[in-house]
Amino acid sequence: MMDRQFMRESTRNFKPYYSPTSDGSLRLDTNTNVLGPNPAAVKALSDISDMDINQYPNTYSADLRNVLAEFYGLGPDNFVTGSGSDEILDVLFKTFTDKGDRAVMPYPSYSIYDYFSELNGGVPVLVDLDQDFQLDVDSILAADGKIIMIPSPNNPTGNAFRHSDLVKIIEGTDAPVVIDEAYGEFHHESFIPLVRKYENLIVTRTFSKAYAMAGLRVGYCVCSPEIAEMMTCIRIPYSLNMLSEKAAMAALRDQDFIKRSVDMVERNRPMLAEGLDALGFKCYTSDANFILARSPIDHKVLVKGLKERGIMIRDFGHRRLLEDCVRFTIGTDEMNIKVIEACEELTR
Ligand SMILES: *Cc1c(COP(=O)(O)O)cnc(C)c1O
Repeated sequence: MMDRQFMRESTRNFKPYYSPTSDGSLRLDTNTNVLGPNPAAVKALSDISDMDINQYPNTYSADLRNVLAEFYGLGPDNFVTGSGSDEILDVLFKTFTDKGDRAVMPYPSYSIYDYFSELNGGVPVLVDLDQDFQLDVDSILAADGKIIMIPSPNNPTGNAFRHSDLVKIIEGTDAPVVIDEAYGEFHHESFIPLVRKYENLIVTRTFSKAYAMAGLRVGYCVCSPEIAEMMTCIRIPYSLNMLSEKAAMAALRDQDFIKRSVDMVERNRPMLAEGLDALGFKCYTSDANFILARSPIDHKVLVKGLKERGIMIRDFGHRRLLEDCVRFTIGTDEMNIKVIEACEELTR
């Protein structure tokens, strides 16, 4: 009988990742862009008859890296692309951690980090955030990781970390420090320019959130040419497909849509927070396109009730320090009204 005894021992207790059925629900559970698909990407893909899809894509996405270099005023050798920034994160663990090596990350944070750390034979070390969901800098440095992973703005808490704390961490270690800026477009204070100054700094970015292209799976990191070269040896050749590369190049050149998306989030964030607060939720400060909120009623009842009303949000209520917490992607005006009305029915 084929059972888990045959599976690699280090991964035998793994479970599949979050994969709900959506059946037409309003998706406010994955922090994707609620304004719909990126228009420049759709246009770029509307005619692919001139594309040589019989050939392989660029081995290491040379065309996209050239456009990124121009966009940020850096060199193409400062970039590594991947099939989503999740691939970049996996490549980082594969590049820097061996079996048994410690990877340090805050808690609560993005669960993909400890998953990839273990998947690659490493040992995740989770360091609790303080009461305001800010970093415990001394404990993070004392944990002595082979790699340090920090998302800012953080997911699922929503807040960005203090710039000075992140600088202290980068300057306080020789180990690679990864700042995951998946929500960087919403924050306006990027660490990307600092890759020139700090050799151990790696900043990851994605086309899945503000850029409204999650379905095309494009991500990248910005770092020193030395680190980019190491990662390039580990990354699977051709992992970013030709269509996604083309769409990403077009999307980068249309910053109007990004600005519109960011403006919408900044306008609607207080609206959603105030609406939820008035119902007895406790909303945490957000610098991203989502809000973490502590529900006044049982988290499972809330999430199920919203699903029955055609709205999906993400449940974190079963996690330590996040009791009864749920995460809402910030919607358009109409979406937020629908969410607040449904929450009102459920909390009455
Ligand atoms: C959504 C998210 C990502 C990445 O996603 P990809 O779709 O793989 O690019 C990375 N980090 C954080 C913190 C995220 O929330």
